[in-house]
Amino acid sequence: MLKIAVAGTGYVGLVAGVCFAEVGHQVICVDIDENKVNLMKSGVSPIYEADLEQLMQKNYAAGRIDYTTDYESAYKDADAIFIGVGTPEQPDGSANLSYIATVARQIAETIEKDCLVVVKSTVPVGTNDKVEQFIHDFLVHDVRVEVASNPEFLAQGSAVRDTLHADRIVIGTESKWAEELLRDIYKPFMLPIVSVNRRSAEMIKYASNDFLALKISYMNDIANLCELVGADIQDVAKGMSFDDRIGSKFLNAGIGYGGSCFPKDTKALEYIAREHGYELRTVKAAIDVNHDQKTLLYKKASKRLITFSGLKVAVLGLTFKPGTDDLREAASLENIPLLLDHGAEIYAYDPVGAGHFARRFPEGPNSHGSIQYVSHPEEALADANVCFIFTEWGEVKAIAPEAYKNLMRTPLVYDGRNIYAVEDMRAAGVEYHSVGRESAV
Ligand code: NAD
Repeated sequence: MLKIAVAGTGYVGLVAGVCFAEVGHQVICVDIDENKVNLMKSGVSPIYEADLEQLMQKNYAAGRIDYTTDYESAYKDADAIFIGVGTPEQPDGSANLSYIATVARQIAETIEKDCLVVVKSTVPVGTNDKVEQFIHDFLVHDVRVEVASNPEFLAQGSAVRDTLHADRIVIGTESKWAEELLRDIYKPFMLPIVSVNRRSAEMIKYASNDFLALKISYMNDIANLCELVGADIQDVAKGMSFDDRIGSKFLNAGIGYGGSCFPKDTKALEYIAREHGYELRTVKAAIDVNHDQKTLLYKKASKRLITFSGLKVAVLGLTFKPGTDDLREAASLENIPLLLDHGAEIYAYDPVGAGHFARRFPEGPNSHGSIQYVSHPEEALADANVCFIFTEWGEVKAIAPEAYKNLMRTPLVYDGRNIYAVEDMRAAGVEYHSVGRESAV
């Protein structure tokens, strides 16, 4: 049992902390946000993730996890400090490392015993070398401190499961001591460990995320071509998926990837390449395709309708994917402002993300249109002129094709997640447009 401190209690830090506690370590989670810390102490998760709250409560009751804003008390006698703070995108595409630098300095000024600092945040290759140097530069006590890379591969919406049952743990270290300590920490998880040097570990994270982003953009590119040549992207994907070299995952076409990782990590790697005088053409293409894909349905609908002004527009799904409350880089954030600017009266439904969305787009008039939030999809659909599906929540998938026909004023649906079989919508009398497939008109 080791004493582990975790800096940052977002999707990565909190889930890591809770899972470390679950396997028996003594964990203290640090965040600068006092409201979050108070929430967590009272057993409430500040983020929406399946099973998280229950594990927080269980491990808090067992005395294995606590939460604090007092980093000094948390860091000074920790065996290992995991950093899970944000590395958001800057306007030029590079990663903002200021949160990492702040934590590094706090660590340097407070640790009183030998300690391994483990960077879980996604950082440009070479950052961990700098973090180690930075900590040594500011170190107050005469202790041994090393930095290791341990990138995180969890997916939001299944973060706890992904952590406890990860495909692999990647550790990047520069000494046997660091490698052994990380192996000890992860031993109770009983998962495959890939041990490499720090820079390779940093690169594995970007290379993995960007490969997945590329896969999505590739399928979206092919989907757009399918529409032009009369092929069906879902049949195409099915045919491809039997090939082991391709695999069956990440072959769904739609209105592009969002979230806090793929958009930022593609741009960050492209930036790193540019800084080294190399043009990363494949990743650049993935970024370009995704950019255009996000407003594909809006563009399609704009061609079909004279105007959105005064139309009741049902929006189903606001988060960037199901199972999370996260709105970062969600397609809704691109499309809803466009719809509002063109006078749409939006009725939006999302089972989890509506509250967050309403903070950015409060209920009532907005630009030339207006937005209301509803608790049931049927309220959004009632009397609507057009419906956009942005997120494939189970609650949205459960809507029967006939409901669109029966509830809407005009059953006109733009589905960004290819939820329905075209035939089913046609049979129900719904005009249905999706991605990479024929339309039902
Ligand atoms: P997040 O924005 O949800 O959380 C970051 C947290 O750090 C916030 O709660 C913030 O208050 C806190 N914080 C900021 N400064 C702090 C400080 N000095 N001390 C303590 N806490 C501090 O971020 P996230 O989505 O969990 O992502 C964190 C990192 O992990 C990023 O680099 C991201 O790219 C990477 N990552 C994210 C995911 C994901 O699915 N979200 C998956 C893999 C990797």
